Amino acid sequence: MGNPFSVAQRLSKLPPYLFAEIDRLKQDAIRRGMDIINLGVGDPDLPTPSHIVARMQEASADPRHHQYPSYEGMLSFRQAVADWYSKRFGVTLDPATEVLSLIGSKEGIGHIPLAFIDPGDVVLVPDPGYPVYQAGTVFADGIPYFMPLTRERSFLPDLEAIPSEVLKKARLMFLNYPNNPTAAVASRAFFAEAVDFARRHGLILCHDAAYSEMAYDGYLPESLLAVEGAKDVAIEYHSLSKTYNMTGWRIGFAVGCREVLSGLGRIKTNLDSGVFQAVQEAAIAALNGPQECVEAMRAVYKARRDALVDGLSALGFAVERPKATFYIWIGVPEGHTSASLASALLSQTGIVMTPGTGFGRSGEGYIRAALTVDVSRIQEAVERIAASNLKPS
Ligand SMILES: *Cc1c(COP(=O)(O)O)cnc(C)c1O
Repeated sequence: MGNPFSVAQRLSKLPPYLFAEIDRLKQDAIRRGMDIINLGVGDPDLPTPSHIVARMQEASADPRHHQYPSYEGMLSFRQAVADWYSKRFGVTLDPATEVLSLIGSKEGIGHIPLAFIDPGDVVLVPDPGYPVYQAGTVFADGIPYFMPLTRERSFLPDLEAIPSEVLKKARLMFLNYPNNPTAAVASRAFFAEAVDFARRHGLILCHDAAYSEMAYDGYLPESLLAVEGAKDVAIEYHSLSKTYNMTGWRIGFAVGCREVLSGLGRIKTNLDSGVFQAVQEAAIAALNGPQECVEAMRAVYKARRDALVDGLSALGFAVERPKATFYIWIGVPEGHTSASLASALLSQTGIVMTPGTGFGRSGEGYIRAALTVDVSRIQEAVERIAASNLKPS
């Protein structure tokens, strides 16, 4: 008799859990009484702005919100998204057909392959990249084709380098700018190239814009949908998670091509029952309300970014000052791999960072720091690294 608990192949096809070793070392370090500085997880440490929490408190007491929501989201929420898109990006959306609510954007990213990918179809996935692009593909029996993101190409994929045999089977492409984990940004010209490429090769283009509001030094990322004709082939994912410190609330949305959203919606009607309406009311308050909280969030991360980039640069690390996201993508000094540096940092200094290889093979040679602790703790981290033998020689 076989083992009744052996998992399905789709689970064993996912890459091994690369953070397991880090977790083990972290538990070890905590047991030894070490003071851990956690720059590992991309989860904002600051609270949700109080006017959003207040709206949630009020809305959650309203019995009209206690029943099942609709899977596509309240029209008032979708209207708030459309208004925000118009104001922020100059992109016009029909709230009825071009906006879909999501239980966090991760949900919609993970589900989209189920709507459009048949066994053996190829999905073009950035490497390194947010692991959900690959997981969603594998769960739909699709085949991920990894597009390397390299420093030489400013961490933009070389679309013309994708082999034509791959393109024949490809149906969908994921992109993500501002980028996790490399912190790279994309220009309107690159988005236009991607839209044109998707059109020529019959691809659905899925752009993950979770970090569009987390940008610095006067730089404001554009929407891929601002490209002429993009809505014919593309959707864009967004999330309240990073912009308003709402990762725990689980609300995001997808906008753009109505046929693509309709396919995703058919998966959702069969699998989930939408977002708690009180959370949608809070999200409306976030999108329609005062945006000073977003400006304040940027100022906090900018100060942290500068503290870490200045500190690591002074120690000789290869590190750029990112224009966006709350990640620093750090070159690993000679003599180390991504994994060995992450392990050594943790066991010797108590600092948690994520090895680049946790995001794909092309992440080798890098380690990612998330700016989720305050400036004084970042300075403490830099001092610990300075006192260690882990800096470039
Ligand atoms: C954080 C993050 C998201 C947002 O996920 P939610 O499910 O909306 O919380 C999406 N994409 C990337 C690349 C992220 O890093």
